[in-house]
Amino acid sequence: MEGLLTRCRVLPTLATCSCQPSRYVPGRFHHCAPGRRQRLVLSRVFQPQNLREDQVLSLEGKVSDLTCKSQRLMLQVGLIYPASPGCYHLLPYTVRALEKLVRVIDQEMQAIGGQKVNMPSLSPAELWQATNRWNLMGKELLRVRDRHGKEYCLGPTHEEAITALVASQKQLSYKQLPLLLYQVTRKFRDEPRPRFGLLRGREFYMKDMYTFDASPEAAWQTYSLVCDAYCSLFHRLGLQFVKVQADVGSIGGTMSHEFQLPVDVGEDRLAICPSCSFSANVETLDLSQMNCPACQSPLTETKGIEVGHTFYLGTKYSSIFNAQFTNFQGKPCLAEMGCYGLGVTRILAAAIEVLSTEDCIRWPHLLAPYQVCLVPPKKGSKEAAAAELTGHLYDHITEAVPQLCGEVLLDDRTHLTIGNRLKDARKLGYPYVIIAGKRALEDPAYFEVWCQNTGEVVFLTKEGLVELLTQVQTV
Ligand code: ATP
Ligand code: MG
Repeated sequence: MEGLLTRCRVLPTLATCSCQPSRYVPGRFHHCAPGRRQRLVLSRVFQPQNLREDQVLSLEGKVSDLTCKSQRLMLQVGLIYPASPGCYHLLPYTVRALEKLVRVIDQEMQAIGGQKVNMPSLSPAELWQATNRWNLMGKELLRVRDRHGKEYCLGPTHEEAITALVASQKQLSYKQLPLLLYQVTRKFRDEPRPRFGLLRGREFYMKDMYTFDASPEAAWQTYSLVCDAYCSLFHRLGLQFVKVQADVGSIGGTMSHEFQLPVDVGEDRLAICPSCSFSANVETLDLSQMNCPACQSPLTETKGIEVGHTFYLGTKYSSIFNAQFTNFQGKPCLAEMGCYGLGVTRILAAAIEVLSTEDCIRWPHLLAPYQVCLVPPKKGSKEAAAAELTGHLYDHITEAVPQLCGEVLLDDRTHLTIGNRLKDARKLGYPYVIIAGKRALEDPAYFEVWCQNTGEVVFLTKEGLVELLTQVQTV
């Protein structure tokens, strides 16, 4: 980590910029502290960049499996690196984007009263035997045995664990309900066909929330509250989605919805009514059902990537583990439950899948690993005199636009032409690429700005740039 930032010895973290006073670590070099402003430089980022298509193919072994755009682009620009089938190293850019995604998810979950927890990945077999899922889940469950011969699985989901946890709290009162507990953790599933990179892994991040309510009516309210929070999340990410009626699968319960991003590589088939709001995963429909059950219009079919799933569980798990609360009459009652998943790593890859072109990654603007890439002139070129100006511009932006502190990367590979570096920057999809070319030598200096999410290219002065960048939202 040391040395990524020029002149910086100790970094609190690379992933977040701690420029708010409350997060400042006294006594440490701090890349946003006044007078010690550091520049993030591209040449030091750990990122095996610019792999040719054939190099990427050989990374994954079997060429036929490499069939989706997000997987190819993410490997090519060094966002992920394969470790074993369905398992990937998440490289620095990806970790930054994921951390941003988790921040947006936290905001949405906490806005509806969610409390974040973190449960162990090792989940004792007894819990799963109690619900019979130790058998039902079959080979998908990754099982391990400890030195004492005790069996565990690596958690593919946590209904058992959370319900046992809540059941162990003997003093739970109706006054504490609804209880909304969630976590963002790694999940393990021995998928029969892991593929499409982060879209279907064997080890992946999921946000899973579990809710406990005092009555079915209250639990329905919570259900719609969480669904609304999911809608808000996808709106904020700028992702077009459909909420469809879904099968309850091995998780169970009485009602369920999936949040799907419509796109051809999706593995789910969705039936959507063009005339009313009905939409369903075809798994839930009778195959002969070609018309909308609500308005009888012919249904249209599309493919989708499942990015979220909500379940109304009722007392399926609380009755097994005896997860109770005391009601207003002091009587013990079973909690009414819901569970709600979001595929965190899958959302990231799915967003890249739907937003990118064949050659260039496009990110939801909130999630771009860095918002700005500054490209100084090539060493020895006619414009080389503008190099210092680019450095000053870097400092000026991060000072004048506080939310961009830690979000600006300087492409210091000045042995390469501007054109080559622009190509890389376009592929990586920084929302703003700023080039100090010929016009940077004019008085006043003009910088060429590629606004990648809108496709505009404009020339702006330093002041114009600050005005533009002040609008950038970060999380
Ligand atoms: P799928 O039908 O795609 O296998 P699922 O219905 O089994 O998924 P859930 O149990 O509903 O998955 O899990 C909640 C969320 O976790 C899913 O909506 C999805 O976004 C994500 N997810 C599930 N399996 C994977 C996986 N193998 N890799 C990445 N994300 C996954
Ligand atoms: Mg599902």
